Amino acid sequence: MSHELEDVWPLSPLQEGMVYHALLDSEGPDVYAVQLILDFDGVVDAVALRAAGQALLDRHANLRAAFWIDDLDQPVQVVVRDVELPWEEIDLSHLTAAEVEGELRAFADAERARRFDLDRPPLLRMALIRRRDGKGVADRSRLVITQHHVLVDGWSAPLMVRELLALYDAKGDDSGLPSVTPYREYLVWLSEQDRDGAREAWTTALAGAEPTLLSAPPVAAASDGNAPVPALPERFITHVPQETTAMLQAQARRLGVTLSTLVQCVWGVLIGRMTGQDDVVFGAVVSGRTPEVPGVESMIGLFINTVPVRVRMDAGDTWADLAVRVHGEQGALLPHQHLGLTEIQRAAGLGDAFDTVVAVENFPAARDTSAERRAAGAKIAAIEGRDATHYPLSLAVTPGDSLKLRLDYRSDRFDRDAVAVLADRLVRLLVSVAGDAGRCVGAVELLSAGERERVVGTWSSGSVVEVPAATAPALFEARVVEAPDAVAVVSADGGTVFSYGELNARANRLARLLVDRGVGPEQVVALGLPRSADVIVAVLAVWKAGAAYLPIDTSYPVDRIRFMVEDARPALVLTHTTAAGMWEDGTATVFLDDAAVHAELAGFEAADLTDADRVSPLDSACPAYVIYTSGSTGVPKGVVVGHAGLVSLVVASGRRFGVGRGGRVLQFASPSFDAATWDWSLALLSGAALVVAGAEELAPGAALMGVLGDAGVTYCMVPPSVLPLLDVGRVPASVTVVVGGEACGPDVAGRWSAGRMMFNAYGPTETVCATMSEPLSGEVVPPIGRPIDNVRTYVLDQNLSPVPPGVPGELYVAGAGVARGYLNRPGLTSERFVADPYGPAGSRMYRTGDLARWNSDGTLHFLGRADDQVKLVPYRTR
Ligand code: AMP
Ligand code: MG
Repeated sequence: MSHELEDVWPLSPLQEGMVYHALLDSEGPDVYAVQLILDFDGVVDAVALRAAGQALLDRHANLRAAFWIDDLDQPVQVVVRDVELPWEEIDLSHLTAAEVEGELRAFADAERARRFDLDRPPLLRMALIRRRDGKGVADRSRLVITQHHVLVDGWSAPLMVRELLALYDAKGDDSGLPSVTPYREYLVWLSEQDRDGAREAWTTALAGAEPTLLSAPPVAAASDGNAPVPALPERFITHVPQETTAMLQAQARRLGVTLSTLVQCVWGVLIGRMTGQDDVVFGAVVSGRTPEVPGVESMIGLFINTVPVRVRMDAGDTWADLAVRVHGEQGALLPHQHLGLTEIQRAAGLGDAFDTVVAVENFPAARDTSAERRAAGAKIAAIEGRDATHYPLSLAVTPGDSLKLRLDYRSDRFDRDAVAVLADRLVRLLVSVAGDAGRCVGAVELLSAGERERVVGTWSSGSVVEVPAATAPALFEARVVEAPDAVAVVSADGGTVFSYGELNARANRLARLLVDRGVGPEQVVALGLPRSADVIVAVLAVWKAGAAYLPIDTSYPVDRIRFMVEDARPALVLTHTTAAGMWEDGTATVFLDDAAVHAELAGFEAADLTDADRVSPLDSACPAYVIYTSGSTGVPKGVVVGHAGLVSLVVASGRRFGVGRGGRVLQFASPSFDAATWDWSLALLSGAALVVAGAEELAPGAALMGVLGDAGVTYCMVPPSVLPLLDVGRVPASVTVVVGGEACGPDVAGRWSAGRMMFNAYGPTETVCATMSEPLSGEVVPPIGRPIDNVRTYVLDQNLSPVPPGVPGELYVAGAGVARGYLNRPGLTSERFVADPYGPAGSRMYRTGDLARWNSDGTLHFLGRADDQVKLVPYRTR
């Protein structure tokens, strides 16, 4: 054979992409090896079929192309004149029907796995397999055409079959067939297009677009360089019911858009909802068959192109709004679809912007080949096409009475279950748009009934636990009655400061003094005290008087302190003389380190107070404390937490952490943080001892390790960033560690959970603690766990709809621990504390501003802040 060169052509953009891909990915099977399988009933004339295949090659120059890339600036395709069709005949007629099926599949797979050399034409081969049919009488044959995608697109497949059969009938003589429009004409047309204009159009269309990635990145290549060879894509097929298919088509007509646009809108909404984005990009396979090339619709070759589709969803968009807008945007880009994807992405600065591709296969000739089937002497029983893609996920939609949805996915990026769930959601969205284009896309249900039941039911709800309808001081007093001599407060060196009885007596005296000054329920008493046992006495005294305490860190700037005092308007400030300068003239103050006050206190009775002693009755709905946090606005606001929530938290966490009599809880957090309230409530409401130390004694490092050991601490709650400053080996395994307040890294979790109880607790000040993990283990990013007893958590999108498991959404918290709101800020309160649509009537939920997702096991994963909220360091020890 001469291998005479007939012509040299440039490549079309997708051809170029495929050639580069083949170069990069030269190991294992080539994903772009595609197959067409024709099954014949009856006797096939092998000689005529082979002649027909050869004639096909002879007629179409582009099927005889080789691709040259080495040492060239631009790859070229070289058309070779005389190319012999690679032809193989295999006889399997000796095998039984059962044996033959396996053999056929193995053969097709092997053929597909045999790589083509792109520079050795033709990139096409045929094999005819003869076999007996099931009954063992008549002959059956299968023709397997394996070719490289760089030659032909899916649209060409039925055209190719039609020509092949016509040529078969004519025994390879093509004189009866219409003449071929050369592929070169299309390439010429391509070269005449305005590429600068196209680049500009795509740049504009994609400005500000965000990459949209649905799949997890592939597992990192093995360090020895023997990365697993990616297998050919797996396939998942499902169908849209006939009735829905008809309704979809009618809907598209009514909206004046194509079915393809409708499918693209649905895909956009789907991946948007699954990535938490309202602006998404994915690829679309376009036919590329421009009407400007006459006869293009019957040409055999590669015309398709992959171009980006951007779908932006505005709040309140209906399916109709979206479809009409996307239709308009697509229409404007239609003249620019000839530009290659690499160039588009380069121009738009988008990089690898997407990992999903959608193709709506509206091949004109795909529908009916029955005429050809009959025409061929042997009847064709089936035509099966096997197309390919290197994208992690591609959706191919084949129109018909019942829309066929084919999802090809890379198994290193998606597992089959995830793809099945995706397909399920896709159909649900298609049903939605088919049924009512006036529906708001954001409100369309994405979840199955089962998923919904989990994410706003079983997973979202902590155990419902009976909690005493008591206030914090009542619970404390119950512990006093049980064991008045038990240790209540311990110092850094482990020495007893107060027994429960002593602490109670002191708190009662101070409470009576407060009542004497007119303090009562629904009032605020500020505590401007350094870390000391005095703080604990003061907290209990304020509670016993019925008021809520407001901790004020006297090391804060004076402006900030004044702001809090002005905002909260405390009835009284309990403080030390050292902080006297902090308070404006006219502020009612009581100095707990003043001898005169001591004398006055000694005059009060030490017995517990009852409602009869208080200004007005105290109940569990009353505020227990007010703590200031800075929100996204940066303006601090007072969070008001009631007794009921605090008591529920203490009961739940006491059980989870195993804190009770005999335990020793370190009070690590600064009194001005809610974590401190948790510490002292956890200890003193459950009968344990509270370890109170000075700021220097708690400095993360040697000092803190000393306290943990000396004071016999059994439980401490610290921000995870404190732990790397300690030597894990020097902290007894008997110390249970709870981390919270910020994300904990896998290394810290791994090191500190080994041989020790360790938990991750999550919650903003507005809900104290909302979720807790199980005991942690292993070097993994610890989950924040599940909602604690009597608390509900939801992961919702902007429409307050639950997002599917695995999808990021905003975390909402409802139930017992939720604060009453912000002190004197009804507007802000109603903005952040909203009606809970999934809870009992009248219940509220707090919008945390944190992003989270559900793991498949029903635990929550923290993903960061939804905005750039200013956050104070939670572990100040002063
Ligand atoms: P604050 O209201 O100052 O207590 O801050 C609460 C914020 O700290 C939460 O909204 C989260 O952003 C973050 N946070 C609290 N606990 C955790 C945790 N366990 N993991 C990650 N972030 C946390
Ligand atoms: Mg906190």
